Amino acid sequence: MSIKTNFDVAIIGGGFSGLNLAYRLSKDYKKKVILLEKENFLGGLASTFSYKGIEIEKFYHHWFTGDNAILNLVHELDLDHRLISKPSNTGTYYANSLFRLSSPLDLLRYKPLSFLGRIRLGIGYILASFIKEDSRLASISAKEWLIKVFGMEVYKKIWQPLLRGKFGNLYEDLSAIWIWKKLVLRGGSRAKDGREHLIYFDGSFSELANKIEQQIEINGGKILKNFNTAKILQTSDEAINIFDKTDIKIEAKQLIFTTAPKISAQLCKEIISESKIKSLNRIKYLGNVCTVLFLKKSLSDFYWLNITDPEFPYVGIIEHTNFDSKFLEKNLRVVYLSRYCQTNDEYYLMQDSQLIDISLKALKKMFPQFNEEHLHDFTIWRSEYSQPFMEKSFEKIIPPTTLLENKIFQISMANIYPEDRGTNFAIQYTNNFLTKHYEKP
Ligand SMILES: Cc1cc2nc3c(=O)[nH]c(=O)nc-3n(C[C@H](O)[C@H](O)[C@H](O)COP(=O)(O)OP(=O)(O)OC[C@H]3O[C@@H](n4cnc5c(N)ncnc54)[C@H](O)[C@@H]3O)c2cc1C
Repeated sequence: MSIKTNFDVAIIGGGFSGLNLAYRLSKDYKKKVILLEKENFLGGLASTFSYKGIEIEKFYHHWFTGDNAILNLVHELDLDHRLISKPSNTGTYYANSLFRLSSPLDLLRYKPLSFLGRIRLGIGYILASFIKEDSRLASISAKEWLIKVFGMEVYKKIWQPLLRGKFGNLYEDLSAIWIWKKLVLRGGSRAKDGREHLIYFDGSFSELANKIEQQIEINGGKILKNFNTAKILQTSDEAINIFDKTDIKIEAKQLIFTTAPKISAQLCKEIISESKIKSLNRIKYLGNVCTVLFLKKSLSDFYWLNITDPEFPYVGIIEHTNFDSKFLEKNLRVVYLSRYCQTNDEYYLMQDSQLIDISLKALKKMFPQFNEEHLHDFTIWRSEYSQPFMEKSFEKIIPPTTLLENKIFQISMANIYPEDRGTNFAIQYTNNFLTKHYEKP
């Protein structure tokens, strides 16, 4: 058993939350930190893989123009020149047709809705942007609120299929605050012409993760990959012991989990109270299956297509090369097909060969010019803890950040409220957590 000791703070999880904690604690708080990651790479859900020498996210990623916390971090790291900002080209697939939905004018032309429905949709967006944060929103369902603001037709044709696609059979219990905050934040990413602008990091999100990793090391921090935390024990008032699956031991005075609450509960169940374990285990998550296609031909000029057809196995089609053109040099188009679901979902469990067959058939139906010959290659990624489920009155069940007074903490995607998870909020919420729990020297 090898022992590494003498750390002020150990952080579990090398996604953007863990990276930011290790970076800030080592830089601004002058702590001796160690970051422990079970995989042999950093970045967590925003990590990448290499294909033909180009790094690309396993799960599609971009930022909004108002994502100030992460954009400030990029600025601090002197990487502003790597930001690519463009108008997004978004649309919807409904009743066997594709519709552009990138600007207010597109809304007015959106044929699946009656004229009155289109007006309600436009007014609904405006109303949502004027609503101030209101605690009543937290306790009512998204369904109830959306019907009130947009009317039944818009709810049935737009919101219901999207919510069902994103949250499966949990969707009727989703809090109104989740969808309201999404609408407000997305509205804030629009330019004067009403078009949404998005941002990507040139070279991929793992380039940013690598830069943060370098900075942590420059600040004297340590990073251990392939450290699959298996057990936590408190051996004395001064020492938390963290063991991995091979029994390597790390000793630190304090510990911060950034893992999904259920994982954190499992790891420290021997030393934290029953009630804290219960509140960590209370949080529901959705998984994600993400099929990445490398195609010889483009599907369409849309970057982002929402799918409102329940027959289609995915809720979104993201043609990455319609935003970032790197793969065009290889004559390839990159398309993500995204399905949020529970981990007992048939598609989540399906063999890759079967899932790709189903995916290609569905695409053929949607894009008549598409055929199997256009497929150059594919890869499928699955992640169990992809999206915390913000149920009604979620504010009452947000997991505690302190698990053992002054010793063990956790700050994960499930602590982000009322915003939805995302790398920007991973940075913002971990920064807020540090301000609350630590003092700068
Ligand atoms: C399909 C999809 C699309 C998304 N799109 C966007 C987007 O466009 N823009 C955006 O900003 N965000 C997006 N996100 C969300 C974003 O990826 C997450 O919010 C963010 O990466 C969360 O970072 P995190 O560090 O909190 O958690 P994670 O990234 O989940 O990191 C947790 C880390 O803990 C590690 N770990 C787990 N168990 C252990 C253990 N026992 N021991 C050690 N380490 C362990 C994991 O390997 C992982 O690296 C998307 C997510 C998904 C799934």
